[in-house]
Amino acid sequence: MTSPPASSTPMVRMAGVQKHFGDLHVLRDIDLDVARGEVVVVLGPSGSGKSTLCRTINRLEPIDTGTIEIDGTALAAEGKALAALRADVGMVFQSFNLFAHKTILENVTLAPLKVRGASKAEAEKTGLALLERVGIANQRDKYPAQLSGGQQQRAAIARALAMKPKVMLFDEPTSALDPEMVNEVLDTMTSLAKEGMTMVVVTHEMGFARRAAHRVVFMSDGEIVEDSTPDDFFTAPRSDRAKDFLGKIL
Ligand code: ADP
Ligand code: MG
Repeated sequence: MTSPPASSTPMVRMAGVQKHFGDLHVLRDIDLDVARGEVVVVLGPSGSGKSTLCRTINRLEPIDTGTIEIDGTALAAEGKALAALRADVGMVFQSFNLFAHKTILENVTLAPLKVRGASKAEAEKTGLALLERVGIANQRDKYPAQLSGGQQQRAAIARALAMKPKVMLFDEPTSALDPEMVNEVLDTMTSLAKEGMTMVVVTHEMGFARRAAHRVVFMSDGEIVEDSTPDDFFTAPRSDRAKDFLGKIL
């Protein structure tokens, strides 16, 4: 995709981020800027720290040292500022994490009602428009278990968008799906990218990375080993670790 316009304040800025789980050094001196409207795909072997990276961006995981800023504002450790910043960062997981006992529309309106203080009418109007956008408005009154995996994941995307996030994080959003449902979710993500959403996407879908990413970040053992355009990464990886990774998956 063509690059987004350069802007002085990155939407996400990670600088010198270190994180351990006990003795395990899981994020090693991570510096990562994501520009407004940029789509960054994070690749890397299992256990390289991709999920942890995503989870630190919205403070689901605390970091040891370093800084993380969203749109120029550092993440506070707790309190109201944290809630507000978290609302700015939408996250979609491998397991759809919908509320099982709420309808699809209720899933999408819940957080705007509670956290953003929206009125019911307003939240439903926005929620329906979002369900429309991801192509499942006709499923609004069903419960998650009545939907296919692909539909549930699209509902999860709509739910995250309902908070009007500044950035969307996707952690292997299609890994739990049956193959025939992968594309409907990737297509939804591609449209979002085209609309200018800032996105960080952990995925093993190389077609999506080639098609939709502005940049590919390759992680190995908690480090960012390569940070390049998809073209450069896939045709001319520089490190042995990236070559080895690509050799195994392509
Ligand atoms: P990836 O998403 O790239 O597979 P993760 O970020 O999930 O990698 O994990 C990176 C490393 O951190 C792995 O070795 C994993 O076992 C470890 N890890 C992840 N979460 C925890 C946790 N809550 N406690 C201890 N170790 C963890
Ligand atoms: Mg992971």
